[in-house]
Amino acid sequence: AVPTPDMNALWMPFTANRQFKADPRLLVAAEGMYYTSHDGRQVLDGCAGLWCVNAGHGRRPIVEAVQRQVAELDYAPGFQMGHPAAFTLAERLVGLTEGKMGQVFFTNSGSESVDTALKIALAYHRVRGEGSRTRLIGRERGYHGVGFGGLSVGGIGPNRKLFGPLLPGVDHLPHTHNLEHNAFSKGQPAWGAHLADELERIVALHDASTIAAVIVEPMAGSTGVLMPPQGYLQRLREICDKYGILLIFDEVITGFGRLGAPFAFQRLGVVPDLMTTAKGITNGTVPMGAVFCRPGIYEAFMSGPESAIELMHGYTYSGHPLACAAGLATLDIYAEEKLLTRALELEGYFGESLHSLRGQPNVIDIRNLGLVGAVELSSRDGKPGARAYDVFLECYRRGVMVRYTGETIAVSPPLIVERQHIDQLVGTLGEVLRSVA
Ligand code: PMP
Repeated sequence: AVPTPDMNALWMPFTANRQFKADPRLLVAAEGMYYTSHDGRQVLDGCAGLWCVNAGHGRRPIVEAVQRQVAELDYAPGFQMGHPAAFTLAERLVGLTEGKMGQVFFTNSGSESVDTALKIALAYHRVRGEGSRTRLIGRERGYHGVGFGGLSVGGIGPNRKLFGPLLPGVDHLPHTHNLEHNAFSKGQPAWGAHLADELERIVALHDASTIAAVIVEPMAGSTGVLMPPQGYLQRLREICDKYGILLIFDEVITGFGRLGAPFAFQRLGVVPDLMTTAKGITNGTVPMGAVFCRPGIYEAFMSGPESAIELMHGYTYSGHPLACAAGLATLDIYAEEKLLTRALELEGYFGESLHSLRGQPNVIDIRNLGLVGAVELSSRDGKPGARAYDVFLECYRRGVMVRYTGETIAVSPPLIVERQHIDQLVGTLGEVLRSVA
C-alpha cells in the first residue's frame, strides 16, 4: 500500500470531485490488463485507461523507445525544423488509411486535433476563394474536447454553460440515440438513417455556400456510446458532397482499432475529408494527437500563385520526439499483434456477454460495436447519473474499472483483452447491478 498524499493543492478536472477526495481511488502502477491501486489491489482495466491504452499497459517496447529517444534527442522545434521520426510516423499513419488520407498534422491531444481540424476546414475554403464558408455544424451529445472550437461544435450543455458565447455560426444536428426504437439492438441500429436528413434542413436555413464543415464522432463515445444508425453516415457524406461541405470525423476514441479496423471510417464504409485522432496513437503514453486530411486538402494550401500560403497554426510540441518514438513503437505492437482488427474477432463474444445482462435490475438498454459496450440504466428518483455512479464505485471496489457517463456504464477494454477478462468484467458488472438499488 502507498500512503495517500495531501490532496488539497491539485485542482482536479472535475471540480465536483469532493467524494473522490474523501475516498480516493489512486492508481500507482499498471501492467497488461490491470492497474494496481494505492491500497495494493489489482483492478481490471475495463476502459483502456480513458479509451487510449489499446495495447495494454506497461508495454516494454514503448517504454524503451521513449527512454532511448529522450536520451538521444529530447526536443526539436517543428517550425522550419524537424526530426526523422516525425516524418516516419506520419508516413506510417497515412499508410493505415489505405490511401484514403494524404497527410497528418501533429497535435498534443484530442481537443487540439479538433481545433486544428476546424481551422483547416475554414482555411481550406478560404485559400480556394470560398471565404463565405464559415458556418460549422456539430451534433447534440457530440463531444469534441474542451478547446473553444470543440466546445462550440460539441453538444453538451453543461460543458458549455460557464464559457459562452463561444464561436458564432454553429448549428447542431440531432443526436442518434433512440431507446424507443433501438433498445437492446446489437451493432448499428436499423432505425434512424433519416436523422441525417436533418442536415438538409439546417442547410436550407442558411445559404449552403456559407457552411464550412460538419463534425461528428462516427460513434459518440464519451456521451454514452451512441451508435450511428445504418446508412446515417453515408447520408451525411452524400449531403456534404452535394453542397461542397467538408465532413470531419472525430475519431479520437474510435481510431486505432476500437471498432475492429484501424479507423471507424474503414469499418463503417464512409470516408471523411478530415479525421481527428489522439489517445491510442501512443497507447496513452506520451500525449499526442494527429489530424488526417484526405488527398487534395494539403495541396490546396501549397498550390497556386500564393504558394507561400501556410496554415499559420502549430504547437510547440507538434510532433514531439518522445511522442513520435512512442507512436512508432505503438504502431509496431499494433501490427505485430494484429490488434487493430482484433475487436472484430472478439465483437461476438463481447457483445453476447454484455447482452446477457439484459433483465438485470434497472437495465434499460445494452449496445455494443467492436470492443465498445454500454449498459444504460434507468435514473434513480430522476437524478441523472446517481445510479451509474454507484455502479462504477462498487465495480471499482470489486476490482473492475468501468466508466460512467450520465446513466450509462461504458466499457472499452484494451484490445489485448482475453475472454477470461470479458468474463470478469461482465460477471462483476452483473453482480454489482444486482446489489445496487
Ligand atoms: N474528441 C473526442 C471524440 C473525445 O472522446 C475526446 C476525449 N474523450 C476529445 C475529443 C478530447 O480529447 P482530449 O481529452 O485528449 O483533449
